[in-house]
Amino acid sequence: MDIRKEYLEFFKSKGHEVISSMPLVPDDPTLMFTNAGMVQFKDIFTGSIPKPENPRATSCQLCVRAGGKHNDLENVGYTARHHTLFEMLGNFSFGDYFKEDAISYAWEFVTVNLALPIERLWVTVHENDDEAFNIWSKYINPERIMRFGDKDNFWAMGDTGACGPCSEIFYDQGEEHFNTPEDKMGGDGDRFLEIWNLVFMQYERTADGKLNPLPKPSIDTGMGLERVIAIKEGVLNNFDSSNFKPIIEKIEELANKKSTKENIGSYRVIADHLRATSFMLSQGILFGNEGRPYVLRRILRRAVRHGYLIGFRKPFMAQLLDTLINIMGNHYIELVENKNFIKEQLTLEEDRFFKTIDLGMSLFNEELANTKEIFSGEIAFKLYDTYGFPLDLTEDMLRDRNLKVDLIKFDELMNKQKAMAKAAWKGSGDASNEGDFKQLIEKYGLNEFVGYDNTAYKSKI
Ligand code: ATP
Ligand code: MG
Ligand code: MG
Ligand code: MG
Repeated sequence: MDIRKEYLEFFKSKGHEVISSMPLVPDDPTLMFTNAGMVQFKDIFTGSIPKPENPRATSCQLCVRAGGKHNDLENVGYTARHHTLFEMLGNFSFGDYFKEDAISYAWEFVTVNLALPIERLWVTVHENDDEAFNIWSKYINPERIMRFGDKDNFWAMGDTGACGPCSEIFYDQGEEHFNTPEDKMGGDGDRFLEIWNLVFMQYERTADGKLNPLPKPSIDTGMGLERVIAIKEGVLNNFDSSNFKPIIEKIEELANKKSTKENIGSYRVIADHLRATSFMLSQGILFGNEGRPYVLRRILRRAVRHGYLIGFRKPFMAQLLDTLINIMGNHYIELVENKNFIKEQLTLEEDRFFKTIDLGMSLFNEELANTKEIFSGEIAFKLYDTYGFPLDLTEDMLRDRNLKVDLIKFDELMNKQKAMAKAAWKGSGDASNEGDFKQLIEKYGLNEFVGYDNTAYKSKI
């Protein structure tokens, strides 16, 4: 079953307009990346632009959750369900239907179209949301409706903007496979796999933290495509599904080394980061030292470090791209169109890091041997400054050993360096790398990425 298509067609049959994915870089400086399907509709939700003619929409949105408010970079490779880049299916009501229909549609899709067994399903509601509890009780045994507080059942896009209580659908993957304390319902383990979040958009949060009721309550939902595919394919880990497995096999082939229980995390991180970096590059984000370009660099360097762990000593990511294109290129044409550009950029950046990674790893290991509790902030800074190890990479390398970096010292050195750089800065050019991208557009004849077609929502209304 093509779940992406099934979903969009299901909601189309319920009167929704199918809308293309918007770019990963939102037209909003407060938001690092598009991190949910609702981002392209946020001005409609808050009422700052008029509602479209059809108040119902559905989409499959590419999302990145790295480096911003929703940051899953630290989870990748450690959980079975998190990616830095993923596809979010969603249906939206702009002041049209509300809780009753949102729940009924979701239930129908999950139990009829996806045909998930009812005895595996659980739902959560906000602790004060009796209305949602009562609606759900018509479909599912109330013993499997859990009430949680703001932390789990209140959704906000960012620190400001549209938000509201939510209700989520979980799939029980079985105690026999998952039985750590985190795997209880409401814990952060993978047994109860969260598949779908229904947000009842009722408020707008202003910069001073106040919640203002929205003129008309709306619906925003998000379902992770990779998770649903994994469930349908009967695998317990997203990385064992057809979205990732061929990439992992290709890494094994290139590394000439099969993955093992001990090192599988590295293969998964590389597969995940290949997707994120390739899409980001294809949409015009370049490697750099600040903002989004630095997030891209951090993701790529993590992939390189995991490549290093399984034996790579020279660039390898570009050789994985064709496998990714086989999986996603049909739907995401920008991967195919920008293939050579992506390969070249990946290789350049990998090259830069491979030049210093050996020395950096030796310095790291030397220091590690002398570390008892806190890893030296000076060495972490040297790794950053001289060898190009982003701080979060060093932190990740220490994670298994339960060690932390001396952040006070690190920040002190960082601030000192920034002050010196500022004093020395005499340039007047554009510090962003937009200029670079313009040159590359000329060199490669790239199209500047503006969305999947010209029917992006904003241009329509
Ligand atoms: P989790 O609790 O598993 O981190 P979440 O509550 O942060 O998920 P939401 O913000 O509710 O996720 O997003 C809606 C849906 O998007 C989730 O129910 C899930 O199916 C999917 N999703 C969220 N984050 C990721 C991710 N990093 N990788 C893959 N799918 C994701
Ligand atoms: Mg999350
Ligand atoms: Mg959650
Ligand atoms: Mg959620």
